[in-house]
Amino acid sequence: MHNIAFIGLGNMGLPMAVNLAKAGYAVKGFDLSETSRAAAEAEGVSAVATLADAVSGVEVIVTMLPKGEHVVAVHGEIVGLVPAGTLLIDCSTVDVASANKAHELAAAAGCLSVDAPVSGGTGGAKGATLTFMCGGADAAFGVAKPILEKMGKKIVHCGGAGAGQAAKICNNMILGISMIAVSEAFVLGERLGLSHQALFDVASTSSGQCWALTSYCPVPGPVPTTPANNGYRPGFAAALMLKDLKLSQEAARTSGASTPLGAAAAGLYEDFITGGSGDRDFSAIVEMLRGGEE
Ligand code: NAD
Repeated sequence: MHNIAFIGLGNMGLPMAVNLAKAGYAVKGFDLSETSRAAAEAEGVSAVATLADAVSGVEVIVTMLPKGEHVVAVHGEIVGLVPAGTLLIDCSTVDVASANKAHELAAAAGCLSVDAPVSGGTGGAKGATLTFMCGGADAAFGVAKPILEKMGKKIVHCGGAGAGQAAKICNNMILGISMIAVSEAFVLGERLGLSHQALFDVASTSSGQCWALTSYCPVPGPVPTTPANNGYRPGFAAALMLKDLKLSQEAARTSGASTPLGAAAAGLYEDFITGGSGDRDFSAIVEMLRGGEE
């Protein structure tokens, strides 16, 4: 059983660290925020005041940080503090270039590394039902897998360094586009006099079926558990969806892929957020598409 350091104890990181502690690992947690450290301590994770304290004497370090710049900076510090052979697992959602930079820093220090972004949101983090999309060498993935299994239910090895981030941004591009498609269909249905339930009953069992419709329906009623039934409280904030759509657009530009619908989705979420909805659930975009009218 490994000793683990967990860096970044925010909305996702804290419940993930708690699940590792519950599974029996000795977990030391670090976050720049004192409030997050206190919350971790209250939930059974031993919170320490510096990154150096957190990573001393551990074999595995998990990071769950906001953006690529944080991941690269923290990896830069970590590799100066730990012995060769330490495994670094980054679960943040970041651009592929930053993920690759983190792998390079780890490799130069003789460390193992895996990029392992997640899908499943805060509910999945609490319930240990996340999906992990992993990139890295077989040896690193082999050590990481049993640890990730304590935080998730599906662990996929997508390929070499950066492949996990690539899978994550491709998946979320599908989600951003499909949420807009489903929302447009409900708005058109409203104009044509169709009830939400009637359109849901047809499309959920027809060729329009998709996760944005059947699990995350953007109008209240058909799927009672969705943010649409809760004033569009996130869930998955629109600002985070825009972040992911921008990551996929950046990757499309640098790789030469054509993603016109991804570009359109990024533009619509940009408009939505400029209108002041960044902290609402991303499915609330149906209200912007409706034009503010019922
Ligand atoms: P968050 O802002 O709640 O948590 C990030 C934490 O990192 C904060 O507590 C912050 O203080 C800490 N931090 C920042 N820089 C640090 C540093 N140098 N050292 C130590 N701690 C530092 O964000 P979150 O919602 O937990 O998301 C984390 C990552 O997971 C993001 O990349 C996000 O895109 C991704 N993600 C989030 C969700 C979601 O539903 N929230 C779902 C999937 C993926």
